[in-house]
Amino acid sequence: TAQFDINQVYQQFPALQQNCNGQPLVYLDSAATAQKPLVVIETIQQYYSGHNANVHRGSHSLTASATAKFEQARQTVQQFIHAQHSCEIIWTRGATEALNLIAQTYARQTLQPGDEILVSELEHHANIVPWQIVAEQTGANVVKIPMLPDCTLDMDAFHQLLTNKTKIVAIAHITNVTGTRNPIEAITTAAHHYNAVVVVDGAQGIVHEAVDVQKLDADFYVFSGHKLYAPAGIGVLYGKKALLEAMPPWHGGGKMVEKVSFSGTTFSALPGKFEAGTPNVAGSLALATAIEWLESLDRHGAEKHIAQLRQKAIEGISEIDDLRIIGLQEHASIFSFVVDGVHHQDIATLLDQQGIALRAGHHCAHPMLDALGLTGTLRVSLALYNTEQDVERFIAALHKACSLL
Ligand code: PMP
Repeated sequence: TAQFDINQVYQQFPALQQNCNGQPLVYLDSAATAQKPLVVIETIQQYYSGHNANVHRGSHSLTASATAKFEQARQTVQQFIHAQHSCEIIWTRGATEALNLIAQTYARQTLQPGDEILVSELEHHANIVPWQIVAEQTGANVVKIPMLPDCTLDMDAFHQLLTNKTKIVAIAHITNVTGTRNPIEAITTAAHHYNAVVVVDGAQGIVHEAVDVQKLDADFYVFSGHKLYAPAGIGVLYGKKALLEAMPPWHGGGKMVEKVSFSGTTFSALPGKFEAGTPNVAGSLALATAIEWLESLDRHGAEKHIAQLRQKAIEGISEIDDLRIIGLQEHASIFSFVVDGVHHQDIATLLDQQGIALRAGHHCAHPMLDALGLTGTLRVSLALYNTEQDVERFIAALHKACSLL
């Protein structure tokens, strides 16, 4: 692989080459959704221009070729996260759908009244609400693993909360508010000691770390394509084969069945059992393209580039009076800040007027913000296409916004 070249990478993102409110766009909201490189956009166009057919159905050549590409994409994902089998990769619409699938199949079948689901305080709502729903359905309880004031997980509390009642531990790999990386390996080791399964929300983790689900020993690992430079509407549920095989299906429909009759229906083997209906084939192919594109880059160089930008951004804004960075984590590409006495939305509006796109608000993490005593933060999230100039423009724009407010 050639050395990481930011100019070459930047050129591949057409969405970045536009003006926003009369200024060149500075996109610092990649943790919400990343922009897409041309190869990903072209994959979608090529699929619908030349290869579109339904998969795993019919016998004509076009469907056979679409099916082959679709299954090849599954293998690309399998290799990317080092899963043992390709049937452990289930296509979903995204991380949210994958988490709901686990809750409504594995959890709903397993949980008994009084059982506990440990959910960290740092979670996105997508990794809280599905557990509350299934707890309501089964009589199980959702128990919070608190965080420490520095926005890391309270591991002592976690170890104390783990008991024989613990059936599921739901935890983000990397959180979307502060970029905190949770110690997944230590969590899976401890949880497995109590025979609890660990569900890892990899929506942010997959973007910033080489993931090996076997090394993490995650029972389930989920992510969305759209944060990984692929389109929205495609995502992945990884599950250990034995768990997936024992789980009941969720959605019923075509492809997830082996034989249907009014006296009873038998279900397909993995992965088909969890893929009812016509899937998002273009999305799967585009996700595979995004992964191949990422793997063609000098990842180490890219990480170094992001780390430099982060350092520069933090130094540049730290001079601002009353600015506080919330739970600053080493190595994170995401950081959140507030300016005391100024509403985050007002700052975001003034930044937007200067062409700077970042996220202001609660980041779908009400419990974490409550624990911090905040109603919202401003969040900068860096991706490998961001440039030094982006960071300089952001710093200058923030200084200007704060001087006006
Ligand atoms: N978990 C985390 C940590 C996230 O950042 C997000 C997206 N903001 C999600 C889950 C949900 O992902 P999606 O909306 O793509 O399903």
